[in-house]
Amino acid sequence: MTRPPDANNPLRVLILGGTTEARELSESLAARADIEASVSLAGRTRNPLVLPAPTRSGGFGGVEGLVAHLRMEKIDALIDATHPFAAIMSRNAAQAAALASVPLLALVRPAWERLPGDIWQEVEDVPHAVAALGDAPRNLLVTLGRNEVRALEAAPQHSYLIRSIDPVEPKLALPSARYIETRGPFVEAEEHALLVANNIDAILAKNSGGSASYAKIAAARALGLTVIMITRPQRPDVETVATVDDALAWLERLAPAS
Ligand code: NAP
Repeated sequence: MTRPPDANNPLRVLILGGTTEARELSESLAARADIEASVSLAGRTRNPLVLPAPTRSGGFGGVEGLVAHLRMEKIDALIDATHPFAAIMSRNAAQAAALASVPLLALVRPAWERLPGDIWQEVEDVPHAVAALGDAPRNLLVTLGRNEVRALEAAPQHSYLIRSIDPVEPKLALPSARYIETRGPFVEAEEHALLVANNIDAILAKNSGGSASYAKIAAARALGLTVIMITRPQRPDVETVATVDDALAWLERLAPAS
């Protein structure tokens, strides 16, 4: 960044979003005259929360498409605030930022850590999670993305309570699957009640981190239930911060307040 940004010549920031952190960052930047933020969403959620910044939706068309977007929109800085499991997008962001010579920061919330009393069975991906369920029928709460749950069809001996933001369509070819559509944040007392009322004996979840969906993990701990926890995919080796405040500080270094 060679020019000091100002209201007539703001720093143009693209936030790759889909997370609470991306939304909070765009909210923090909304009133800034010297920073002009826009947000890109994958377009996975039918009714995403409205953001206080221009928002585009849908893939760019791989690395090349993102490079073209960065150039066409004259983006000065890229913040990858995608979901910790959006590994392809994060890899594309790293490659595109390097090719377009645009400074890149990853904003990634820390993973949940195992606490005393947690019974976690950690697995590397959804197929391994399904294999880890074993042969004996179980009663599971599943909190995977609606595009990931189709893998459950490989284990029809279990009963599934599947929770997602948008409906799973078409429904899974499973003899015992029920569906709940809801969006977090969730609270522990309600998660506890849900687990007890549905006689759940294990949860199948991703290690998303953050507070919005942690309540089920705390409730499982209190009830002594197993969590089959999918660990995070590898991320590209780029400058990374864990909080919105740290992302703001990084932007401040690119766009010192005048
Ligand atoms: P992904 O596998 O990393 O990305 C697949 C493709 O989606 C990317 O190559 C890109 O298409 C497009 N894409 C992803 N994020 C984008 C963004 N912010 N703006 C524009 N395009 C984007 O990610 P995913 O398929 O979204 O999800 C993978 C995992 O993340 C799943 O476990 C899912 O449940 C979880 N997750 C994702 C989100 C989200 O908002 N993406 C939210 C919650 C959970 P092009 O190559 O065409 O550019």
